[in-house]
Amino acid sequence: MSENLFSVLKTNFPEDLNKTFLQQPGEPVLTYGGLVERSGQFANAIVALGVKPGDRVAVQVEKSIEAMILYVATVRTGAIYLPLNPAYTISELRYFLGDAEPTLVVCKPESRDGVAELVAALPGCALETLMAGGGSLVEKAAASPGAFTDVPRAADDIAAILYTSGTTGRSKGAMLTHGNLFSNVEALKASWRFSADDVLLHALPIFHTHGLFVATNLTLRSGSSMIYMPSFDADTMLREMPKASVMMGVPTFYSRLLTKPGLTREATAGMRLFISGSAPLSAEVHKEFSARTGHEILERYGMTETNMNTSNLYDGARIPGSVGPALPGVEVRITDLKTGESLPRGEAGGIEIRGPNVFKGYWRMPEKTKEDFREDGFFKSGDVGYMDEDGYVYIAGRSRDLIITGGLNVYPAEVEAALDAIPGVAESAVIGVPHADFGEGVVAVVARRSGAALDEDVIRDALKDQLAKFKQPKKVFIVTDLPRNVMGKIQKNMLREEFAKTFD
Ligand code: AMP
Repeated sequence: MSENLFSVLKTNFPEDLNKTFLQQPGEPVLTYGGLVERSGQFANAIVALGVKPGDRVAVQVEKSIEAMILYVATVRTGAIYLPLNPAYTISELRYFLGDAEPTLVVCKPESRDGVAELVAALPGCALETLMAGGGSLVEKAAASPGAFTDVPRAADDIAAILYTSGTTGRSKGAMLTHGNLFSNVEALKASWRFSADDVLLHALPIFHTHGLFVATNLTLRSGSSMIYMPSFDADTMLREMPKASVMMGVPTFYSRLLTKPGLTREATAGMRLFISGSAPLSAEVHKEFSARTGHEILERYGMTETNMNTSNLYDGARIPGSVGPALPGVEVRITDLKTGESLPRGEAGGIEIRGPNVFKGYWRMPEKTKEDFREDGFFKSGDVGYMDEDGYVYIAGRSRDLIITGGLNVYPAEVEAALDAIPGVAESAVIGVPHADFGEGVVAVVARRSGAALDEDVIRDALKDQLAKFKQPKKVFIVTDLPRNVMGKIQKNMLREEFAKTFD
């Protein structure tokens, strides 16, 4: 039997294909039947452009209904879907296209001229455009038949390549198979009790694992519906919330919603689940959200290479500051960063993952792939953390963010949790920067809540009895905002650069 992701998901589509798959507020509904028909048209159009199974289809477009249809269509053809952040510049794109050697590039109409120069260097590569309601590919699809037979795939065939953000060196293409994506959607559906009755608020980008695979595949797998927003806007979310049952967000969605007086028990009464991931959700935001709405946010942990790994429980404890135990079928272990030995519960070390969710390897980087996997198949995630007696995982940060000061390890997440609990602190980032005596010195960068009176002394005082001396920041900077990327991750590399000379 074919294990083409779309063919498998389709077996669970609603009997009534007139059911809404997605609706963008103010736009006509895309039904399940419409999705099958239009993705068939797109699939025929891209095959006519020369795309064969295993070829890469690189897509750099804004979020739109057409972009969603193109994802589904590409999977149906057996080609490899390769979404790229629309914010990448032409010079950044040069690397991705050169590395992936796609057969088709789909870009925004306004970037066509710049992209055409890059495509000219790729033999046999076609270039088309796509935007909401138009573009050359959309026109070609409209003139193509809707009937399309999904190309059979094995579970081990690649469905998508997602480039990692590459904050340390070259960005790497993570090869995700049809089997990886399907196994993860099964685990999430069971864990989060997704059903055909759900309506998901979708305001995430769709070039990243969270909005593309977690949100979209789960909706398709459950035969449920989504309210599909071009981007996140707290007021629009609150307006649409009465029609929804589930929201998936990055932590900034939650902190922004908390600034709105309209976020109340009544406004969220129809919701059954709020999920957070892609970056650490502070325990403060978790508690504040719960006090305001009565809902405990369910935090989960995943990454581009592995899909989702752990999740707090739907029916059990949702612990603020923890990302929960391993999902069904996923194994998580903590190992000594130097020796690779498994560590007992409670001790911090490298987080390693094994399971059907874990990617096949980095595109055209066999050496790097080998380096990042243990011989017994565990993937070294690059995250550091520990597991408690109940198997709940606590993330301390990326291993490259770990601070070694005077030979002692400081886990940024622990110091950040203490900072976030200080009244007047909106959020914080703790980094290590060069220090002549200690190797690295601990620096805290703290964003103040508007109107709060906060200075370095107040913060130092608050931490004095809470953290061992070596963990206490040697310097505290107060800022208005922390730099974040579109997935809500704090850009610590930027902060390390900015504050590199603190101890000179
Ligand atoms: P990405 O590949 O862009 O999805 O980034 C994955 C990384 O984001 C992980 O390796 C973690 O460092 C971080 N991350 C994802 N979810 C969480 C979470 N719930 N808490 C803390 N860090 C997270």
